[in-house]
Amino acid sequence: MSIRFILVAPSHPGNVGAAARAIKTMGFEELWLVAPERFPHAEATALAAGADDVLDRARVVATLAEAVAGCNLVCGTSARLRTGSYWPGFTPREAAPKVLEAGAEGVAAIVFGTERTGLTNTEFERCNFLIHIPANPAYESLNLGQAVQILAYELRCASDAAVPRPRRLVPLAPVEELDRLNAHLGEVLAAVEFTDRAGGPHLLKRFARIFGRAELDQHEVNMLRGLLAAVLARRRTRGDAT
Ligand code: SAH
Repeated sequence: MSIRFILVAPSHPGNVGAAARAIKTMGFEELWLVAPERFPHAEATALAAGADDVLDRARVVATLAEAVAGCNLVCGTSARLRTGSYWPGFTPREAAPKVLEAGAEGVAAIVFGTERTGLTNTEFERCNFLIHIPANPAYESLNLGQAVQILAYELRCASDAAVPRPRRLVPLAPVEELDRLNAHLGEVLAAVEFTDRAGGPHLLKRFARIFGRAELDQHEVNMLRGLLAAVLARRRTRGDAT
């Protein structure tokens, strides 16, 4: 897996350090700097915190062409969506699977622009597509380090490395089981004469909806059925006694 994060002409060393940290926290390590204004710099090291290894290994080159050489996918990031342009635009979430796929086959690059002016049109020409982080239309330019963080985070979420969801220990109960649970509840409601004000089957349907939302597994259905059976049994024995 090779994902290259490229910062074009970053002017604030702090942003370079923050970008290194953002990349490392999400499990990436490849940082390239195209003509950084000041690098290396104490402020970059300070903001990288524990990610100074990423910073130390950062490749510094003179041109964007050198940074994207050999990449099989190049994505430019932009604070503005260039509507009406021929560059297709995606959100980070939409772009993430494409970037990961290309990164698995070769090297995928994500290119970030300089703080004041972003990427130039010539730089965009080198990109296969644009990525725009949806933001307040009246103020949509994020801090460079934070833009890197969001991209790295979305890539992480879309990758296999994302924290796997805990596996269900017991499978969900099939519909037939829920039907049986509802029928059983219907019996109990009738037995204890529990009705809604309107009467009729309405109440049972609402209970069924609650059970549906709860995503009950087989053990939970068994538990509820056990409770209902106990209620009926108890009524029967009390009925016998009276
Ligand atoms: N004034 C510039 C903003 C540059 S911000 C402009 O209008 O483009 C520096 C870099 O951070 C941008 O070049 C881009 O790489 C990234 N960035 C900032 N906000 C972003 C957003 N909403 N979506 C995608 N990238 C963004």
